[in-house]
Amino acid sequence: MPEYPKDYTLVTLDGTDRPDCHTLQAYLDNGGYRAVKKVLQEGMTRDDVIGEVKQSGLRGRGGAGFPTGLKWSFMPVDTPQPKYLACNADEAEPGTFKDRDIMRYNPHMLVEGMVIGGFAVDATVGYVYIRGEFWEPYVRVQQAIDEAYEAGYLGQNILGSGVDFDLYVHRGGGAYIAGEETAMLESIEGKKAMPRFKPPFPANYGIFGRPTTVNNVETLASVPAIINNGGEWFQNLGTPDSGGTKIFAVSGHVNRPGNYEVPMGTPFSELLELAGGMRDGNRLKAVIPGGPSVPIVPGDVMMDANMDYESLSKAGTMLGAGSVIVMDETTCIVRAVERVAKFFFHESCGQCTPCREGAGWLYRIVHRIEQGQGRQEDLDTLLNIGSRIEGRTICAFGDAEVAPVVSSIQHFRDEYEYHIEHKHCMVGASAPAGKI
Ligand code: NAD
Ligand code: SF4
Repeated sequence: MPEYPKDYTLVTLDGTDRPDCHTLQAYLDNGGYRAVKKVLQEGMTRDDVIGEVKQSGLRGRGGAGFPTGLKWSFMPVDTPQPKYLACNADEAEPGTFKDRDIMRYNPHMLVEGMVIGGFAVDATVGYVYIRGEFWEPYVRVQQAIDEAYEAGYLGQNILGSGVDFDLYVHRGGGAYIAGEETAMLESIEGKKAMPRFKPPFPANYGIFGRPTTVNNVETLASVPAIINNGGEWFQNLGTPDSGGTKIFAVSGHVNRPGNYEVPMGTPFSELLELAGGMRDGNRLKAVIPGGPSVPIVPGDVMMDANMDYESLSKAGTMLGAGSVIVMDETTCIVRAVERVAKFFFHESCGQCTPCREGAGWLYRIVHRIEQGQGRQEDLDTLLNIGSRIEGRTICAFGDAEVAPVVSSIQHFRDEYEYHIEHKHCMVGASAPAGKI
């Protein structure tokens, strides 16, 4: 875990400095499972729990930032069981590795958050859908579930409250699109992970057509602290519109890449300092603050931005899943975007024509520019293709594949033009294309 130079309040990484932090004993020593006792044994109602979460300002930490309390209130109460709570632990956005560490170091916090969440949305069954490539997180979460059953925090009649909640781990099959929430529901049903049309949203038509709430790992792991300390406490940790803390997974050209949990609204410059500053003292060129699904931003714009939904939106980008990819002056933007475009081309599930075909076109055109075979009209063609994909697909993947290409042309058009004109990269000017 990172060392913090000043006294930050940690929520989801709290207690993770202890070597055995993933065990039940360590979690209990740190005040674990107090929140579930408060909810189930001290007479909190579903509305009380949802009310606290609404007041906390907690927004979905998977990327979309949908208000969690509001989402929970969509679940129909009068509908008979089964109803489900599904935790999206598929974390596959390039540069994102925060949920992995919550599951490795604080798996009981996730389990406790899911018991409380299950109670709030009236679900008696939960699934943790873990990315197939994640081995250690899977082992740790399964161990935590086993320990929680043994100690009476999961199963039938939890802590004598009459509340039931069973929790299962479902391992993913290794496709990025399985992390799209409705594709994940299909996968849990045993089918190929292909996104469904929305609406209906999962609260009305989820796993096996039953009401289902889908939340991300970090979202659910934030819930015990909200119940223990109150929604207002959590809200006040962040900004008026972005409550609480957030883990930012910082990667790229920094001295100390890693996960940093900081209050929402922390200046980007402070986060960069926490991550050890720029590698080799180089100049900051560009940042992707929320994973490649969100627009790339020039470094000087980011240096004036804060790490919260509103400030990043004003900067022309999004907070996304909080995966901050930092690029210094040695980065060839065309090359970086080519790699991202190749990723999206590979991962499209192929259901929608604009996404399936468009992803290939975007990749091939950026690739030929990068290889020194581009034409000036390619740039307008890329923007045109982007406008024909965006908003015309079943899931958000379509918009995601467009964001890096369009935003990089908007901000770094000169680099593309240089590549086309000189048939090599502007960075390290004499190097042949493809070698930077
Ligand atoms: P979305 O905005 O469609 O939905 C967000 C959530 O709110 C969903 O759970 C959805 O069901 C719910 N919702 C939205 N409107 C609703 C309504 N009217 N009624 C009921 N429920 C409603 O976004 P999305 O497609 O779920 O997610 C896209 C985000 O995922 C992107 O912003 C991207 O950053 C992120 N992402 C994250 C990862 C990762 O590894 N963490 C990977 C890929 C993408
Ligand atoms: Fe599949 Fe792409 Fe359509 Fe999403 S947008 S359903 S990934 S083809």
